[in-house]
Amino acid sequence: MDTLTTKHVFAFEEGDGKNKRLLGGKGANLCEMTQIGLNVPPGFVISTDACLAYLDSPDGNLTAGLMDDVHAQMRALEQKTGKGFGDPDNPLLVSVRSGSAMSMPGMMDTILNLGLNAETLQGVIRATDDPRFGYDAYRRFIQLFGKVALGVPDAAFDKEFEAIKEAAHVKQDVGLSASELKQVSERFLRVVEAATGRPFPSDPYEQLEIAIKAVFNSWGGKRAVDYRRQFNITPDMANGTAVNVVTMVFGNRGYDSATGVAFTRNPATGENKLYGEYLVNAQGEDVVAGIRTPTAIDQLANESAMPGLAAQLDALRDKLEAHYHEVQDFEFTIERGQLYCLQTRNGKMNSIAMVRTSVEMVQEGLITKEQALLRIAPESLEQMLFPHLDPTVKVEPVAQGLSASPGAASGIAVFDADRAELLGKEQGNKVILVREETKPEDIHGFFASEGILTSRGGKTSHAAVVARGMGKPCVAGAEGISVDVNRREARVGLASFKEGDVITIDGTSGKVYLGAIPTVEPDFTPELDTLLGWADEMARLKVMANADTPNDARRSRRYGAVGIGLARTERMFNDVARLPIVIEMIVAETPEQRQEALDRLLPLQRQDFRELFEVMSPYPVTIRLLDPPIHEFLPNEDVLRRELKELHALSQAAYGMTVLSGTMGLLHKSDKVREDVDSMRRLFDPAMIEEAIGKKEAMLRKVRALYETNPMLGHRGVRLGITFPEIYQMQIRAILEAAADCVKAGIEVHPQIKVPQVCTAQELRKVRSFVDSIHAEVVADAGQAVPFKFGTMIEVVRACMLADALAEESEFFSFGTNDLTQAAFSFSREDAENKFLPFYNQSGILQDNPFETLDVKGVGKLMRLAVDWGRTAKPDLHVGICGEHGGHPASIAFCHDAGLDYVSCSGPRVPVARLAAAHAALKGAR
Ligand code: PEP
Ligand code: MG
Repeated sequence: MDTLTTKHVFAFEEGDGKNKRLLGGKGANLCEMTQIGLNVPPGFVISTDACLAYLDSPDGNLTAGLMDDVHAQMRALEQKTGKGFGDPDNPLLVSVRSGSAMSMPGMMDTILNLGLNAETLQGVIRATDDPRFGYDAYRRFIQLFGKVALGVPDAAFDKEFEAIKEAAHVKQDVGLSASELKQVSERFLRVVEAATGRPFPSDPYEQLEIAIKAVFNSWGGKRAVDYRRQFNITPDMANGTAVNVVTMVFGNRGYDSATGVAFTRNPATGENKLYGEYLVNAQGEDVVAGIRTPTAIDQLANESAMPGLAAQLDALRDKLEAHYHEVQDFEFTIERGQLYCLQTRNGKMNSIAMVRTSVEMVQEGLITKEQALLRIAPESLEQMLFPHLDPTVKVEPVAQGLSASPGAASGIAVFDADRAELLGKEQGNKVILVREETKPEDIHGFFASEGILTSRGGKTSHAAVVARGMGKPCVAGAEGISVDVNRREARVGLASFKEGDVITIDGTSGKVYLGAIPTVEPDFTPELDTLLGWADEMARLKVMANADTPNDARRSRRYGAVGIGLARTERMFNDVARLPIVIEMIVAETPEQRQEALDRLLPLQRQDFRELFEVMSPYPVTIRLLDPPIHEFLPNEDVLRRELKELHALSQAAYGMTVLSGTMGLLHKSDKVREDVDSMRRLFDPAMIEEAIGKKEAMLRKVRALYETNPMLGHRGVRLGITFPEIYQMQIRAILEAAADCVKAGIEVHPQIKVPQVCTAQELRKVRSFVDSIHAEVVADAGQAVPFKFGTMIEVVRACMLADALAEESEFFSFGTNDLTQAAFSFSREDAENKFLPFYNQSGILQDNPFETLDVKGVGKLMRLAVDWGRTAKPDLHVGICGEHGGHPASIAFCHDAGLDYVSCSGPRVPVARLAAAHAALKGAR
């Protein structure tokens, strides 16, 4: 057996309040509270090391000498309280509580009123002059001790208790008299004896030793082990439980006694006012059990039996905040007019309260700006930026997809973009666009909808990226839903919903619900503005926005973006008026035809860019030249084939009609009939039908010609710009002419031209040659200098490997980590997240979804290499990130560490990113 070589038992006055590993969270806290002068009931802690030694011991005994130390501490407690443990005249009662380094609520056990037996009970009754109180305490102790320390099931006690309540015709415990409670305790003693084969232990020290062992054993109990597994609590986080032995204080000693819980500030609003509730003449578990309705804390001042207690509680609140520099959630008991603080911990608050209390506590001089920033988890700001589901409403979801764009929305389901526009924009309904997946041609449906739900696609799918940019909720890849566009309905398991049925989506959790669930609106408060202003002072990384429209740009600026890090120009073609021109550009058979379409697009794009420059001036606007596979703009091949089939059927009908009308013409001489026949024939005009067939067939040929097995790895990005130079040239001209217009109008502009999918310096040199010659023309025309910068996306593995060569041609690098992740893993960004990735995550093969959390080990390594090699070639190379990871806090911390200059994310995530950038700077080394 281990002998006691180190100290394992610590009075609250001597334990190290910071050593949670040794004393457990609760024990360390009780020590700290005692040492800062709070009125904590006297007690001591037995260390977690003693627990581990006991659990390791082969003979099931406590470490030698441990109980001697416990005896010594009990004698000290007797001195502090003036009571005696086991003394029938003035008995000392204690609670025995567990507490490990990590909080594991309700997972381990607590015993109250330990030290009671037949004799001490009489002492309690004499001292309190309250037999009911005495018997009530006794029966509670027997049951708790019986259950926790001796393993007697609750049901055995409950049965007896119910029998007595029934005989007394009462429903609640409070209705029982002293003599009835006495009967309860006697029956409980018999229950224990019957279950254990031994009389209930009456020696207080024997009780204490059994209780200590029981608490230690509870560490290895199934409940605690399952909890640790569930919440990934590893031995280095918490190993063993401490035991806290604390003098009992009673809130149920009469009307000058009470028990309560309070927050030092309001956890829902952050208001600087004590918030909580109490129960007069009650014990802590009565509050928890909800048997009686507690009173709001501001009524305490009116309790005539407890004068001055409200002021004492206020003083306690000030002391707690002054010491912990954090809002506290504390428990208190008032025993005969004496206030005790039993426990305190940092208060859990919603994000609105977190932000308000942070700002106000800085203004009150309680915490520094740095502390204010660090106490708020960046992700939690989403609650303040997006509507969320009312947490009080409990409804089961019908499907689970990916949380593709945060926020919640309800509306009627519609299954195509045109219907969304009709029912949403024109008829004023709230609609949710439900699709298998979305394409650029659906964009008008996005504008008309409250939110988007797709049954396929990942977090970087078209639906996800576009919804995020617009700040609309999106659940993507909800594979349990099967969408039938033709019947305008969707099936989910046994349920289904059709067009017009109300559904709710929660893009923050990825859940889908049938029916309307109320949402809570977001609230961008003035305090959040102040807080984020401080964040910007601390951060090294700048935060830019991914924004494609002036509206997106305006919102991201309001949220504090200092420029646009990515404007996806293909998104600008997502417009019903422009799409036909874009299609003409794509299907053009000759360069002249293509140029004709481009000439019509040029002024539109110039206007797009000019608006972005104006909204963002004087900040930089980074415009990416066209990227996606061009066939994305063309109609779907299946749809085309179906339409062609219908046209051919129509053509046959038209032929029949011609024959018929000839016959009818011969038979019917009446003018009226001839007129009708003529108009029918015009309707089925074979020539028009033939022309329509011709056009459709041409389109089908083009769609087939452009078909790629792997479009994401195909004819996109700069490859498109090299093979169809006139497209990039048009965009470059539009950017530079828009910039020239702004310069002439006295608007400060900093356009940045960015080339996507680059894998070799030759590609960059080629595009740069377009830029240089067009720039020379634009400058000559404008008669003024037109500034611009030229840079590249880094989203291809080879681009990382050749970063030095690419840096020679670039003023900036912008990591496209969506594609870079796809390339590094060879995981399709379109499919992986709803095929094998969840399995990889669940089985622990991959910790995170790499499309959400930057894969620091692999993709991050490529990025570091690219930054180092790029800056070696060009020391002032400006480097940022514009993949979806740019708005993800842990990924932002990596970007800070890797020496990036900026992150760019969708507008609504800008506040989150600003706070994350400050966190990175405050925690990071650089
Ligand atoms: C990327 O690949 O990270 C990126 C920003 O580009 P996109 O998502 O448009 O391919
Ligand atoms: Mg990309």
